[in-house]
Amino acid sequence: MSTAVNYGLITVNKGDAVELPRKGYHIDGECRPAHRGRLFSMVYHSNLWLIISAFYLAAKCDPTMTLFELGIRLTMIASVQYGFKCSDWLHCSDLYDADASKSLEEQRQHELTGLKYDMLCISLILASSCIMWAHKLFFFENLDILAGFNAGGVVLLAFVLWGMMKPHTLKDEYMPHYRFYLKLAQFILACQYFSMLQLVVAARNLDEQWAHLRNAGLIWFVYFPGMFCFVLKPFFPSTKTTIWGPHEVFHFFTFAGHLATMILDVSL
Ligand SMILES: [Zn+2]
Repeated sequence: MSTAVNYGLITVNKGDAVELPRKGYHIDGECRPAHRGRLFSMVYHSNLWLIISAFYLAAKCDPTMTLFELGIRLTMIASVQYGFKCSDWLHCSDLYDADASKSLEEQRQHELTGLKYDMLCISLILASSCIMWAHKLFFFENLDILAGFNAGGVVLLAFVLWGMMKPHTLKDEYMPHYRFYLKLAQFILACQYFSMLQLVVAARNLDEQWAHLRNAGLIWFVYFPGMFCFVLKPFFPSTKTTIWGPHEVFHFFTFAGHLATMILDVSL
């Protein structure tokens, strides 16, 4: 019986006197840097997002708010919170020792399920945010198209992700197909994000009467450094010695973007 343990891209013999890095992902063997997933994990377990959201809703709610306006904000809040849970599930499963008795295929299924719902949450966050801003800037008809495009993106992504979770996807030979589905899913999310540029244009073109809404497009720029770092990920692969990489920067600016959405929504 082998005593070797796979820690991502390296293999360590049990009993060796070495400082072990965190265990790698089971899907593709990518290493986990020391702080992978810790920000979202902390936010999820402390319920910080729900506490912030309660203040946001208290500041935002007034008797004139329609059920639709409330519903779209609740969708955004719930998607962000569930996204934190999925990120914790996907990125921090190695810390919970949940893998001990599972086969490789079961471990892959665990990661893929977390990844699937994580991406669906990102898609829902982008869609609900777009629909909310389109509603605030409702006099621009092209923003209805933006909102519709984003809602369609959620549906399209759901189909792609379902394709990713067929049982045979968990075997070695299916991993190239999995990577294809993953790229397709990321492409759909990128389309949703870049379509938000319409917000920037629409907000800048507002006339004096609506000048208070001119900063609405800022939201796109708050997310941008994170998206930029996500694209850079292949050029800076995580290693066992990394404590902080592009993926961690992506998480940070994603959180900043969610906060900025609430702040701008209350103040504009
Ligand atoms: Zn992540």
